[in-house]
Amino acid sequence: MISYGRQDITQADRDAVIEVLKSDFLTQGPAIPKFEQAVASACNVKCAVAYCNATAALHGAYSALGIGSDSLVWTSPITFAATANAARFLGAEVDFVDINPQTYNMCIAELSKKLERAQKQNKLPDLVVPVHLTGQSCDMEPIWQLSKKYGFSIVEDASHAIGGRYKDEPVGSCRFSDITVFSFHPVKIITTGEGGIATTQDRKLEIKLADFRSHGITRDPDRMQGEPDGSWYYEMLNLGYNYRMTDMQAALGASQIRRLDGYVKKRNEIAEIYDKELAGTGIILPHRESWQYSAFHLYVIGWPDGLGKLGRRQAFESLREAGIGVNVHYAPVHTQPYYRALGFNDGDFSAAEAYYDKAITLPLHPNLSNADLQKVITTLKLLTSNSSG
Ligand SMILES: *Cc1c(COP(=O)(O)O)cnc(C)c1O
Repeated sequence: MISYGRQDITQADRDAVIEVLKSDFLTQGPAIPKFEQAVASACNVKCAVAYCNATAALHGAYSALGIGSDSLVWTSPITFAATANAARFLGAEVDFVDINPQTYNMCIAELSKKLERAQKQNKLPDLVVPVHLTGQSCDMEPIWQLSKKYGFSIVEDASHAIGGRYKDEPVGSCRFSDITVFSFHPVKIITTGEGGIATTQDRKLEIKLADFRSHGITRDPDRMQGEPDGSWYYEMLNLGYNYRMTDMQAALGASQIRRLDGYVKKRNEIAEIYDKELAGTGIILPHRESWQYSAFHLYVIGWPDGLGKLGRRQAFESLREAGIGVNVHYAPVHTQPYYRALGFNDGDFSAAEAYYDKAITLPLHPNLSNADLQKVITTLKLLTSNSSG
């Protein structure tokens, strides 16, 4: 099966991990700040706080921004469930803003209209979480302007988007947000096995993010309430978690991030071949906004119902039967049983639901061989030209 995504592990990566295994620290050692600095530098941002995964980093980010049981958090219905779940961990209410049918990202016009209505009902969100779906940045500047008008915080869920750019800045610079979160799961652009990171320009948020990751404990005398009665002394200031990344993971990440630009370039090259070869087949191809450079975590096509006399489901199964590991990202979060039980229904976010009915994710990763790429293209051309059913 040709896989839709796959990690790339080199000898340098293995050496970096082994070096940590031979060192004094497997966790809470020097590899963590080194990796954090590498991410901060790649993202042109002051602070980066590593976490054991992006779900934990989202939890930490929302908490650092004061989200709690009386808060309201809005995100996109087309995302991995964790974006919304992290708000539920804190007891916050979740609502969604429908997607733009072209970019599949949160629709700015919808957001603007929903904010106007929410203001009248006195139910404005405390936090909005745009998701850079497939690696294409949301249009952050207008979202940021709306945040100034209506007074909400912004976390970018950039789990798909490390190495991408928005206007003149790398995604993660937080030019138009409070915090950006990346995931380093093996299917993502670079990996630490499991892992995530939160970036911010705000030193106060950095401290909150670091506390939350490690039990709310500080060893900084300036932040303590009591007098240290010895050099062993620490204080637990807030309720925190053990959400730390290990040094083995951080060393792997620091080694991987050296190849970030090459990975993203390769992903864009493969996407361009798909674009060119699939033009004219009737398949809906990904739209690219000119003001961004996508990290191309995913190449999502739309299968119009009846193309090649096939529905999306039949097209998907035919591709799988041909040994092509297609996937679907994602079923709208509001249609998951857990969110239905909170009151959401079919029809609540129609653009998201229409997207889901057509979406198929094609294989795309830096080591996708030319033969495999050609096989995907040939199979798709055959399926779309099928007129006998
Ligand atoms: C992968 C992903 C996450 C969760 O990342 P983990 O590191 O697996 O916790 C969150 N949001 C989006 C959009 C993702 O793709």
